[in-house]
This record gives sequence, structure tokens and C-alpha cells, in this order.
Amino acid sequence: IGMPRVPEILAPRRRSRQINVGKVKVGGDAPVSVQSMTTTKTHDINGTLQQIAELTASGCEIVRVACPTDKDAEALKIIAMKSQIPVIADIHFQPKYVFEAIDAGCGAVRVNPGNIRKFDDKVGEIARAAKDAGVSLRIGVNAGSLDPRLLQKYGKATAEALVESAVWEASLFEEHDFHDFKISVKHNDPVVMVKAYRMLAERGEWPLHLGVTEAGPAFQGTIKSATAFGILLSEGIGDTIRVSLSAPPAEEVKVGHQILQSLNLRERTLEIVSCPSCGRAQVDVYTLAEDVTAGLEGMTVPLRVAVMGCVVNGPGEARDADLGVASGNGKGQIFVKGEVIKTVPEDEIVATLIAEANRLADEMGPD
Ligand code: SF4
Repeated sequence: IGMPRVPEILAPRRRSRQINVGKVKVGGDAPVSVQSMTTTKTHDINGTLQQIAELTASGCEIVRVACPTDKDAEALKIIAMKSQIPVIADIHFQPKYVFEAIDAGCGAVRVNPGNIRKFDDKVGEIARAAKDAGVSLRIGVNAGSLDPRLLQKYGKATAEALVESAVWEASLFEEHDFHDFKISVKHNDPVVMVKAYRMLAERGEWPLHLGVTEAGPAFQGTIKSATAFGILLSEGIGDTIRVSLSAPPAEEVKVGHQILQSLNLRERTLEIVSCPSCGRAQVDVYTLAEDVTAGLEGMTVPLRVAVMGCVVNGPGEARDADLGVASGNGKGQIFVKGEVIKTVPEDEIVATLIAEANRLADEMGPD
């Protein structure tokens, strides 16, 4: 992962301790990583590995798998061994699975101490086992499963309650001189979530995993996550992100990358600049933009392609991009690196843009 220059509009990255999640570093000066979670039954080893392979191909850097039963815990060994990216076992309720996950070679284990009864007794053992194995943890506080004591104290899962829970749980591990963990304080309301992370960021140097929990279907969840992550990341807060969507997990990864690219925290890959269309449009901009996007799917070079509906802003944007079209009068002026290279009939615009994009990509060499 390249570490692009952080533009000045973003606050400097918050100081955080660096931990290892398998081979991926989280926190410190490590690039903000993108993670997701499988939707398969973890004990369906082949299905889970297949989904992990798809997630890896879509740019997922860390993957989490649920571990609710003995069968799931048993499957972790093979999954952790065969996955190309670090696997985090997600454990609620059962401390014994934490030890199994550590033994299985998982990169990290997510625990939600608020959900583990008699957890306090187990902290020392978990800390020792994790330290011996070089495995990190995530303390995953979640509005939906907040410690009942705090729920009672605050009446509901407020930002203050989430932070109090997280800081207390962190202290349990710190008392055992264990520091290799990151923290999340997720809430389904981006406003509460942002407040919680801001408060938490002030309280210690823990690396932070950002997430809006139960964010909803793709459209709503994308916007909630982009809004919340955008605020926090622009303040330098956040070391790894998970976009939660009620949609296939590869979509979460795509959205995560897009958020980081939009903030220049990740080198931009293909970027389609297309106009929203208006009464001046002389072509069907939506179809044109969709066809060009589909035709260039999978392209990973940092190419900016402008698809513009008329000659008002078209030539300006097209000239500014690596490649572009300004449409008008049944024709499209094709721009490459600021110069008009040809004018083609409307029905050849898509094919011409795709051919030129591929030519430019070849010139730019392998990414
Ligand atoms: Fe309208 Fe032309 Fe601007 Fe597109 S480029 S939004 S068609 S003025």
C-alpha cells in the first residue's frame, strides 16, 4: 500500500500506537487499512475461503469472520492458514473461543468484553496467550451490546457510555501490561459515533478501528459511513475502517477504498468525472458514464476520465482529466492529456474512450 501525501486540508494524523494484525500494520504511520467481514457460516470452510478470496481480490486488507459455535472455532485453523490476508476472529460471549482463535493463527481477535460474562477473570489469561502468540486484539464496543451496567448508568448507548466502556475495558488489559489492541466504539448514528471516537481519541494512543454499525442497505450505509469517516479521518482520527452494509461484503471494500481515495489517503485509481447532466446535455450522460465505468471496471491505474454532456463545462473538465469527452451535436470531442485528439460520432464515444484508456494504462505500465 503506497502512502500518498496527506493534503494540508486534513489535520495531521493523530498519534497512535502501532499494532500488527498479522502482516498488516495498524496505527502509527501505517496507511489506513480497509477491512470487511465474511457473511458465510465460518464452519463452511470452502465457502468462507472463497469469499475471502473475492474480498482479497476487491482490495480487502484484513478480514473478520464470526465465531459463534464450536464448529466455527474449529474451522479457524484452516481458514487462517489458507487466507491471503490476516483473519480476525470475532468472538462474543465465549472466552474459550478467544484461546482457540489465538492457537489457530488468527492475526487478531475481536472481543466485546461487555458481552462476556465473568470476562474480568479471563483478561489476564487472554493477555498472556495473545502476547505469547504475537496476536493483537480489538476491543469492540458496540451500541447494540453495551455492558448492561453502563446502559443502566447512562440510560442508553450515548457516546459517553461507549467511551467509558472502551476505556474501562482497555484498562483491564493494560493492568496486565498488554497494549497490542485497537478499539472501536460503534454506533448506528453517525453523529453519536463521531462524538464517541473524538472523545476516545483524546483519552489515549490506542489505534482506532472506525465503523458505523448497522449502517443499513448500500445507499444509506455508504452515505452514513462516508459522512462519519470523512469527518473523523479529516481530523486525523482512524487507523483502519470497516464500512458495514447490508450488501455483499465486496461492496463494503469498494466503498472503503473510495472513501480513502476521496480524502487522498489512498492513491486514486480510476476516477470517472461525469457531469450530472442538465437541460443543455446533448447526449445521454448517465448511459455514457455507466458504459464507460463498466468498460473500465478493474482498471487500477490512476486515470481520471471525464464524461461531460455538452460544451459548457465539457472541454474544461475533459482537458483537465487524463482523458475525456465533451459531447455535442451527435459527436464527441475526445481529449487526451489536454489535447483534442479526434472527434467521433456519438455511438463511438464509449469504445473510443475505452480504447484510449487502455492505451494510456499500458503507457503508464503495471501498477
Ligand atoms: Fe449540463 Fe453541460 Fe454541465 Fe453537463 S457539462 S451539467 S450537460 S452544462
